[in-house]
Amino acid sequence: MYGVDLDKIEPLKEQELERFASERPKSKKLYQRALQSYLYGTPLHWMQQWPGSYPMYVDTAQGARLTDVDGNTYVDFALGDTGAMFGHANEAVVKAICDRMRIGSTMMLPTEDSIWVGEELQRRFGLPYWQMATSATDANRFCLRLARMITGRDKVLVYNWNYHGSVDESQVMLEAGTMVPRHGVAPNAMDFSRTTRLIEFNDVEALERALEPGDIACVLAEPEMTNIGMVPAEPGYHDKLRELTSKHGTVLIIDETHTISTGPGGYTRAHNLDPDMFVLGKSIAGGIPCAVYGVTEAIAERIWSILSRDTTGEEINHFGFGGTLVGNAATLAAMRATFSEIMTEENYAHIIRLATRLEEGVDETIREHGLPWHVTRVGARAEYLFRALPPRTGGEAETARNFQLESYMHLYFLNRGILLTPFHNMALICPAVVDADIDLHNDIFAHCVESLPRE
Ligand code: PMP
Repeated sequence: MYGVDLDKIEPLKEQELERFASERPKSKKLYQRALQSYLYGTPLHWMQQWPGSYPMYVDTAQGARLTDVDGNTYVDFALGDTGAMFGHANEAVVKAICDRMRIGSTMMLPTEDSIWVGEELQRRFGLPYWQMATSATDANRFCLRLARMITGRDKVLVYNWNYHGSVDESQVMLEAGTMVPRHGVAPNAMDFSRTTRLIEFNDVEALERALEPGDIACVLAEPEMTNIGMVPAEPGYHDKLRELTSKHGTVLIIDETHTISTGPGGYTRAHNLDPDMFVLGKSIAGGIPCAVYGVTEAIAERIWSILSRDTTGEEINHFGFGGTLVGNAATLAAMRATFSEIMTEENYAHIIRLATRLEEGVDETIREHGLPWHVTRVGARAEYLFRALPPRTGGEAETARNFQLESYMHLYFLNRGILLTPFHNMALICPAVVDADIDLHNDIFAHCVESLPRE
C-alpha cells in the first residue's frame, strides 16, 4: 500500500528505535521519573506522541535549532506544532517580555501596547474590532458563543476531519455519510444532533443543503484544512462559501491559526477572503499562550445591539466567557515585538522561498522513485501525503495517512537531526532556517525513501 511494503517496515523501525534509545539515555530516565507525577508522563499528553519510545527532554531551543538533554541537536521543522512558527527565543521578543515582566504583567488593565496591537491587527487583517483569548481553542469557542448569541441559532457547521482545538461541537466525524462522535473522543455529554452539522470540505452541494434550513449560526472553517494533512480549497470554493453563508444569515468564521503561514496577512489577505469573524492563535506572541479574534463592523453592531458599547458598571455582562490573564501586558508586549520585528514581508519572503525549495526537493524524490505520493504547501508550511494527488476532502486525506509509515519516517528524520511535526508529515519553516537546513531535510528525505521496502 502507498507504494510501500508495509509488512517489512517494522524491523526497520525497530533498528531506528534502538538508535533512538542508545542516543537518549538521559531523556529515558527523566521520562521514567515523570511517569510518577503526570498522567501520561508529560504535562500535556500530546507531548508524548513523538515517534520514539519516550519523549526527548529539551535543554535549549534557539532560532531553528533545538538541543535535547542528551546533547543531540536538531533542525526544528515542527516548531511546537506552529506555536514557535517564527522561531525559538527570538531576541526582540525575549527582551520585550522580560522588560514588561520587570514592571508588571497582569493587572486586569490595558497597556499602551494593547492599542498598538489592536491597530496592527486592523491594518494587517482588515477587520475593525478585536478581542483576545489565551488559546485558539478559546478564541474559537468565544466566536461560536457570539455567533449563536447574535443569530439566535444553535448549530455550528464544521468539516469532516477538521481540527479547531478542544471545541466540543467539532468532535465529530462522518461514518458512511453519517455524523458520529469522533472515534476515541468521549462526546462530553454533547447532543451533536442539536449542536453540529458536518460536511466534507470543497463539496458545494453539501454546503448548500446544510445551510438551506437556515438553522446554522456559523461555519467554522480553516481556509485550507491543515490538520489531516493539507486539503487545498478548490478554485471558487471560498466565493461560494461566502455567498451561501451571507444568503442564509450564517456567520462565517475563518480560523487562520495554521494558515498564517501563507503570508503577513494570512490566507485571508492573500486570497481576499471576507470573513465575518477571524481567529488566530499559537504563534503570534513568540511562545506565550495567546490568541486574537476579529469581527466586521456589521457583526460588531449586532453584538453592541445586545450589549451596548456605552454600558458601564453594573450593566457589564461577561457574555459567559473570559480569561483572567487574557490580554496581559507581557503577552501584548510579545505580540507587538512579533508583529513588528518578525512577521515582516522580508521574513515571509525568506521562509516561503525555503519552503518552496523543500517542496521541490521532496517532489523530485517522489517522482524519481515513482511513489504514489504528493507534497503540498501553504506558504511556509509544506506537507507530504501518501496519495498521488492532493485530497479534495478530509475523508480523502484520512485514507492517505498511515501511522506505521509516518512513525518510521519521523523516527528516521529524528535520528538524523530533523524534527517533523509529530502528528503528520508537516515541515514548517521559521526565519532562522538557512538553505543548508533545507538541503539536509531533502537529502534525508531521499535516503529515507531509498530505505523503504517497495511493493
Ligand atoms: N485552530 C486550528 C486550526 C488548530 O490547528 C489548532 C491547534 N492545532 C487550534 C485552533 C487550537 O489551538 P490551541 O491548541 O492553541 O488552542
